[in-house]
Amino acid sequence: MKNRELFSKINQVIASKDSAVAELISAESHRQRSTICLIPSENYVSAEVALALASPFTNKYSEGYPHVWKEGNLIDKNGRYYQGQENTNKLEKLAIQRALELFTDNPSAYHANVQAISGAPANLAVIGAFLKPGDTLMGLALDYGGHLTHGHKVSVTSHYYNAVHYTLNEEGKLDYDEIEKLAEEYKPKLIISGATAYPLKIDFERFGRIAKKVGAILLADISHIAGLCVTGEHPHPFPHADVITSTTHKILRGPRAGVIVCKKEYGPQVDKALFPALQGGPHMNTIAAMAVAFKEAMSEEYKAYAKQVVKNAKVLSEKLKEYKFKLISGGTENHLILIDVVNNENGVTVKNASWFAERLELAGIVTNKNTVPGDAKPWNPSGIRMGTPAVTTLGMKEKEMEKIAELIWLTAKHAEDDSKIAEIRSEVELLVSKFAEGSNFII
Ligand SMILES: *Cc1c(COP(=O)(O)O)cnc(C)c1O
Repeated sequence: MKNRELFSKINQVIASKDSAVAELISAESHRQRSTICLIPSENYVSAEVALALASPFTNKYSEGYPHVWKEGNLIDKNGRYYQGQENTNKLEKLAIQRALELFTDNPSAYHANVQAISGAPANLAVIGAFLKPGDTLMGLALDYGGHLTHGHKVSVTSHYYNAVHYTLNEEGKLDYDEIEKLAEEYKPKLIISGATAYPLKIDFERFGRIAKKVGAILLADISHIAGLCVTGEHPHPFPHADVITSTTHKILRGPRAGVIVCKKEYGPQVDKALFPALQGGPHMNTIAAMAVAFKEAMSEEYKAYAKQVVKNAKVLSEKLKEYKFKLISGGTENHLILIDVVNNENGVTVKNASWFAERLELAGIVTNKNTVPGDAKPWNPSGIRMGTPAVTTLGMKEKEMEKIAELIWLTAKHAEDDSKIAEIRSEVELLVSKFAEGSNFII
């Protein structure tokens, strides 16, 4: 049975009791099958990941861990608060083991925590593990591609901690000399390397040297690029970083959750900072799906996938350049592209990025508006962010990237023309449905 048929059967079960929700599920499935997803943080999961999420593990409360810490050593002993944990303990240990195999080349030197409900709580836990309120952390500014949880002013990470920020230089690149200067000046206890909208490679080795010099812990938040780091498509943060955090639902193609991997010596404080300091019971069904996704990410197929993601991004960016779009940082070295649509040089005037993102959506191309370096207002940014993880999961290759670039260009050129936009939409639907129809993934 094709995955789509399988899920439509499952939805019929829901429909027999609750047509309102079933209709929405069906409509969302239709939306995903008839639009091109270029949001770089989204993806499609396998049937195995989706079904693990729907498993009876969702019924179980498992506060605590399947291990205890004693004088810095992990002891294989039930550390839960409720009874009935024989399977959850085995499952969480398996997920931890797989996380260690996936993210490190020496599992015994590291510890993994798989309980974070998502990426933001994973970061909060790590910050809480190393900092007291008022201590200083340093991260990339949001308007230059950093994440909210890297100390942005609306985030608790700046309300409870003293957040300082580095930015990008005029070429849209991380300026490591500047980062080093700032680190020496502010002496942060924690430095966060990682971004949500940075198209170039990150030099974790240099970050590691800077952190060491000022006595800071280095957190590599690789939510966006985890799949590239574990397949060799991007330099790996270890051994330079002390801790890695990552979402598991972006390029990793797992359930919506967060994973933390740290040097073993930090295991006790990281575990404690997540539970009981920040969260209650872990979502064991999510942990089951994570274990499945980690295994998938260690396969040869996934390696080929990651390679294609990068290739596709390269082709898409080169084509967009041919259409004279202005690419932030000059292009891409990963899965992600950021274009400044307000100040582009192709003769097209776009009112603003929000409006253009809406026009693209009408054409069936789903992206997100994003700040670009120097944007004063995050709610009215000048950029559009796009990436290739989702389209690559569908099996699209270089040829389709060229087509998508052309469709983006046509949308920009005819942005005010509703009938032209409708024509582009038909082309988009044809293109996606061809790939979605036979896909092994849930779409
Ligand atoms: C997505 C992202 C997060 C947060 O993940 P959520 O699951 O949305 O909480 C944190 N850091 C970075 C760099 C991200 O890209």
